[in-house]
Amino acid sequence: MEENPVSLIHVTHVRRLSPHMVRITFGGAGLDTFATWPDQQLKLCFPRPGQSVPRLPEPDPDGDAMRWYQALLAIPEDERPYMRSYTVRAHHPEQHLIDIDFLLHDNGGPATRWALSARPGDTLGRYGPSAVYARPLGDADWYLFAGDQSALPAIGTLLESLPEGARAAAYIEVADAAEEQRFATRAEVTVHWVHRGAVPPGHGDALVRAVRGAAFGPGRVFAWLAGEAGTVRTLRRHLLQERGLDKRSVDFTGYWRLKLTQDDAPTAEDLAEAQERLAQAQEEQRG
Ligand SMILES: Cc1cc2nc3c(=O)[nH]c(=O)nc-3n(C[C@H](O)[C@H](O)[C@H](O)COP(=O)(O)OP(=O)(O)OC[C@H]3O[C@@H](n4cnc5c(N)ncnc54)[C@H](O)[C@@H]3O)c2cc1C
Repeated sequence: MEENPVSLIHVTHVRRLSPHMVRITFGGAGLDTFATWPDQQLKLCFPRPGQSVPRLPEPDPDGDAMRWYQALLAIPEDERPYMRSYTVRAHHPEQHLIDIDFLLHDNGGPATRWALSARPGDTLGRYGPSAVYARPLGDADWYLFAGDQSALPAIGTLLESLPEGARAAAYIEVADAAEEQRFATRAEVTVHWVHRGAVPPGHGDALVRAVRGAAFGPGRVFAWLAGEAGTVRTLRRHLLQERGLDKRSVDFTGYWRLKLTQDDAPTAEDLAEAQERLAQAQEEQRG
């Protein structure tokens, strides 16, 4: 594992997977050395208007992530890169390449706008992946994965990592059938594509309905949830309160927030969740 997972990365290929999803392959220093695990996230730094390359602080000599982040915040705002989280969809260490799948969502911010026009040679910064964010799935007899299209890349890596004999269902909300993908997995997986339809009643409503109506497999259940933060909250509440799952059996991440960008301050609910997550991690560490 690299101590300083910071570098510039360059686009080598751009491939449209579906009307709203583009796979961008990046090369760059350090892409041959980092350890790989499923659901691996990193921070991408996007250039500000007028810049062709994002301005990044020097890597911290001791690999201190917080100090590096403080140095990033010290860059004047109009020169500081936009930072967004993305999932490593595939890692090709021999070729020093990684694939990242970008959802081209409506009202796209800097990340989506950049992905829409990305060409070979374009440059981003990366921070990560960092093992601090690695969260292996819990042991279970049956796995539930639920998310919207921004979580599709992570769900893909998770399904593809399940061993033979594992049993799972995935509920993935996309606009329509044109956005569906195939996954190569050794496990017994049923993928339910949940179509939002042309006139959505609201982000996540169809996904919540589908999960509420899901027949769970027998035995111990572990659930993995990601997508719009409000939808993830509703799904988690359903699993804990109506399905009786233990908190430790539900991994959840709000990937984005309706009407808020990733630069906007955390809401009270975001902060409460972050605290709960920290307390849970500490409890798990204590055993
Ligand atoms: C751990 C993690 C992993 C992630 N992995 C991926 C990934 O692999 N691929 C991927 O595409 N996304 C992924 N995301 C989600 C991505 O970081 C957000 O969607 C991000 O906000 C996009 O940045 P932006 O600059 O386009 O939009 P922002 O500037 O953040 O927001 C602009 C507007 O777009 C809206 N918006 C933001 N995201 C979405 C969305 N997904 N759908 C609809 N509206 C949206 C906001 O509400 C806001 O109104 C991940 C997020 C996390 C936390």
